[in-house]
Amino acid sequence: MTPLQALHKYYGYTQFRHQQEAIIQQILNGRDALVLMPTGGGKSLCYQLPAVLLPGLTLVISPLIALMKDQVDSLNLNGIPAAYLNSTQSSDEQQNIINRLRSGDIKLLYLAPERLFGSESRLVSFLKSLPVSLIAIDEAHCISHWGHDFRPEYLMLSNLKTEFPKTPVVALTATADQLTRHDIKEKLALHQPAEFVSSFNRPNITYKVVPKKNSYNQLLDFLAERKEDSGIIYCLSRVSTEDLAADLRAQGYAAEAYHAGLDNETKARNQDKFLRDEIKVMVATIAFGMGINKSNVRYVVHYDLPKNIEGYYQETGRAGRDGLPSEAVLFFSAGDAFKLQRFARVEGNEEQSRIMLKKLDDMVKYSQLQTCRRQYLMHYFNEPFPDHCGSCDVCLTEFKKIDGTVIAQKALSAVSRLNQRFGNTYVIDFLRGSKSEKIREEHKQLKTYGIGADLSKADWQRYIGQLILQGYLQITDDGYPILKLTPASDAVLKGQQKIEFTLAENIEEAAEIQTPS
Ligand code: ADP
Ligand code: ZN
Repeated sequence: MTPLQALHKYYGYTQFRHQQEAIIQQILNGRDALVLMPTGGGKSLCYQLPAVLLPGLTLVISPLIALMKDQVDSLNLNGIPAAYLNSTQSSDEQQNIINRLRSGDIKLLYLAPERLFGSESRLVSFLKSLPVSLIAIDEAHCISHWGHDFRPEYLMLSNLKTEFPKTPVVALTATADQLTRHDIKEKLALHQPAEFVSSFNRPNITYKVVPKKNSYNQLLDFLAERKEDSGIIYCLSRVSTEDLAADLRAQGYAAEAYHAGLDNETKARNQDKFLRDEIKVMVATIAFGMGINKSNVRYVVHYDLPKNIEGYYQETGRAGRDGLPSEAVLFFSAGDAFKLQRFARVEGNEEQSRIMLKKLDDMVKYSQLQTCRRQYLMHYFNEPFPDHCGSCDVCLTEFKKIDGTVIAQKALSAVSRLNQRFGNTYVIDFLRGSKSEKIREEHKQLKTYGIGADLSKADWQRYIGQLILQGYLQITDDGYPILKLTPASDAVLKGQQKIEFTLAENIEEAAEIQTPS
């Protein structure tokens, strides 16, 4: 039977998608492979079909015990004998499966990594006695510290190649930047793997960033126009998911919360309600979503700043799996960025901290883009993309350029006069000549005090934000955020360097630059 014939026979599909066929061919040839395909792209088929065509057994390692049953049930429905072994089963059930494995009745066996390699487990030696033709690692990014969903038990999989040296391994994920890809290959000890990276572009999703000012009201405005739609709202903390869900219910929205701290029953119930459209809004931490197959999610809102692009992109990818127009909206505040910077510092692990901070920085850059957001996302995953997608907020906004040289000189001299020891809010109040007692008396005597009174606070925030982006100012963390000059500042102050600002024609609606206060 050819792969195409098997596709017809077992799945009833007429053609392969993306690079499925090439991937399957490589796997049938016995080569290790790393497969990156967006969520909903059809990764499962890439190992399920070889499992059917190869003699013997295929092991599938998956982190999500809760989803194994569904996957196995649907395989069995398609006439492919599959089973799983996990902690939810009685010992009788497990023994029954062991017997079926021994007699060669099963083509695919789903396992969590800790079931395979846990200290109590004698399973490895048993499985080694069987003809294992292929090992598939689902959600392979979980093995990487640099990924956004590291799971320590995945590290046990570094034993795979020692235990099964002859068996080809295919690692699959929907989310991995270069670093994470490298880590997956190394930790799994893949042998010259064939790499398949499908396009990550999701053309039906529109990307938007809005400045977070009065986030709750902003959210209500957003939801008011989408009452009939299903959506996910991601928050950073568990508490805020529950609070926000309660607030939304009080406003008449069918909303529930989801986070890792809820008991299993509540989690399952809330998830079910969402899948069955009994609730429209799921307010969740990033614990929600992996492996969830709901096709009609119309929007994903990030109410707080995500920690990195990988996680963000994975989460936005849960919108619009049915291919219909959908939205990804991020509420950005520099305050969030600042908070996350602190979390990103891992005590005693310099390298880890550095990488986490770099990833956060890339996320912040995304939030402040004045170029196509989709292009940035695609480039982040090393995929070429033109500079205009026509369907992100930046592409949809008209910009004008203004000469900002004098404004920049004012801002930089204020920072300099204040000896580079104050944060954004203070600098702006100082520039605007605020009468507030917070401004020190000696500063009120300075010549620079009040030279920026002609501009509003919001204007100054925008301009200072742009100066940071353009590298003429920087923010350092001295326990609190402080504005400082950079090596490039000098030329501006001396009048040797012209500055341009880019402003949206309609500033309120467009992506706006924010600075921490
Ligand atoms: P992933 O694991 O990449 O998120 P799945 O493997 O769950 O995606 O596939 C998503 C959906 O697409 C499933 O319903 C699957 O049956 C379907 N699918 C996969 N490959 C094909 C194909 N070649 N033709 C049509 N539908 C497909
Ligand atoms: Zn664009």
